[in-house]
Amino acid sequence: MMRERYVMAVDLGGTRVRLALSNEDGSLIGKVQERVDKSSEEAIVKQIISIARSLCRKNEIDLADLEGLGIASAGPLSLKEGALINPTNLPFEYVPLTEPISEELGVPAYLVNDCTAAVLGERAFGAGKGLDNIVYVTIGTGIGGGAIVDGCLLLGKDGNAVEIGHLTIDFEGRLKCGCGKKGHWEAYCSGRNIPNFVRMKLEETDETIVEKSLIHAKAKGDLSKLTSETLFNAAKEGDKLSLRLVEEIGVLNAIGFANVINAYDPSLITVGGTVTLKNTKLILSPIRRHVENYVLNRVPKIIATPLGEDVGILGAVAAVLKFRSQSA
Ligand SMILES: [Zn+2]
Repeated sequence: MMRERYVMAVDLGGTRVRLALSNEDGSLIGKVQERVDKSSEEAIVKQIISIARSLCRKNEIDLADLEGLGIASAGPLSLKEGALINPTNLPFEYVPLTEPISEELGVPAYLVNDCTAAVLGERAFGAGKGLDNIVYVTIGTGIGGGAIVDGCLLLGKDGNAVEIGHLTIDFEGRLKCGCGKKGHWEAYCSGRNIPNFVRMKLEETDETIVEKSLIHAKAKGDLSKLTSETLFNAAKEGDKLSLRLVEEIGVLNAIGFANVINAYDPSLITVGGTVTLKNTKLILSPIRRHVENYVLNRVPKIIATPLGEDVGILGAVAAVLKFRSQSA
């Protein structure tokens, strides 16, 4: 009888790292989540190794029964070196991951951009089953994407082919992106940067209207304390000013989506990320309303990912299964 094979999946974010042990069919056996140990580059590697070992131990699975370990991480990264290069959300210039982890655990390790992983996960286990043209978009702390076109996963020369959060949507470049450049989509519509957009808009708004608004009350009059949640919560309670701002963010998102549709011509776009998952209607409805104004290609179905928060983890599982079969 064939021994059952397993996959270790890692979702490495700027704040938290999640690991899961999975069957080859994507059913997750055990999950662990910790804050990323940012004391050094080596600390991150050690943390992943130690969680992976303990997950195997707890579930009585031998490391030898692992098909591989897949790491889904925000980039930029070098696919060949299996390392992060000047990652935007970790304070290091170079973080080698696959080599030290693979050496220590004795299993093949693969690193992919988190959104690249997500689109693989969507196709293997989610709404993209059987589709050859899918794009996954995340609107969370940052904005990113992954694309499968004509059945081919787009990787690019370094593995950063679909960095759509850094598409320019404002040629006047009023807001600065975390990457240092101006006018990028992520600088306006990501969870981290929505407060900057809101403050910019409120400065242009009549003061009496701002002061009467629920968003102003929720920020206790101190707009420097504003978060993207403040905006969406005020909008959910019907605050007119907040709803108008949410709609304006929707217009910018629609421009981003139109660029994506024009570039990749997908038949389905699934959307994830915390901002989307917590405010699905407020994010997706304005995109669907405005995208027609900016797009040339036929507009595809745009839905929230049915995989929810697990899309990254399941993507890491799918990445191992894909790259493993290619190298075999
Ligand atoms: Zn940028």
